[in-house]
Amino acid sequence: MRPMALQERYPNLHVSRHPLVAHKLSLLRDKRTDPKQFRELVRELSWLIGYEAMADLTMQPRPIETPLEAMDGQRVEPKVGLVPVLRAGLGMVEAVLELMPSAEVWHIGLYRDERTLKPVEYYNKLPDAATVQVCLILDPMLATGGSSAATVDILKAWGAARIKQVSLIAAPEGIATLSGAHPDVDIHVAAVDRELNERGYIVPGLGDAGDRQFGTFAGPASEPGHAHDETAEVVRRLQRNLQDP
Ligand code: URA
Repeated sequence: MRPMALQERYPNLHVSRHPLVAHKLSLLRDKRTDPKQFRELVRELSWLIGYEAMADLTMQPRPIETPLEAMDGQRVEPKVGLVPVLRAGLGMVEAVLELMPSAEVWHIGLYRDERTLKPVEYYNKLPDAATVQVCLILDPMLATGGSSAATVDILKAWGAARIKQVSLIAAPEGIATLSGAHPDVDIHVAAVDRELNERGYIVPGLGDAGDRQFGTFAGPASEPGHAHDETAEVVRRLQRNLQDP
């Protein structure tokens, strides 16, 4: 399904149209880009997409005095929380903190149970009541959407009033999963790619965003692409859902 058709079906989907984003994303995708440059590009793109994602934050008047006179300034009203999806989302945190230095960073660890194929929570230190109003989930790749939908479940139960997904590349299948479960969650991305392959990678994509940031190309097979048969079955199911929601 083309990005335009997806945007019609999912009004919560926001795809950047900025030329700088398209330029930097092409460099990021290029297989010759080494981990140092890759990290720099993730940072720059996170800055740009994070900026777009925060365009509708509410503001409050803030009286200030310039050297010449008093005036009504503005301040961003909500407290913002950043929730990076481990591990690839870690590379996006610093950039968004530059934009919003007062943001809190909360870590939630999820992995996919290979038997049930459901996300399982292994790390969560959220305090009892929500300490922020707006949460930005940071994950460079919105692939199946399973981790994001589960993270949103946790953040909603925590009491976050507004939740947004900030990603660099999304697959149509991931958009459908997240939007189906949580149509109120805005999804901000640099690009929507064609599809997931049978190993759960976004194509054309950029490969494994974690490995490319952290230079871990020789590590053990990790998601995506660990249990190939199960992953392929999950992808086929997501693709059927996308055709027939
Ligand atoms: N995660 C990645 O890092 N890359 C993909 O293509 C999909 C999920």
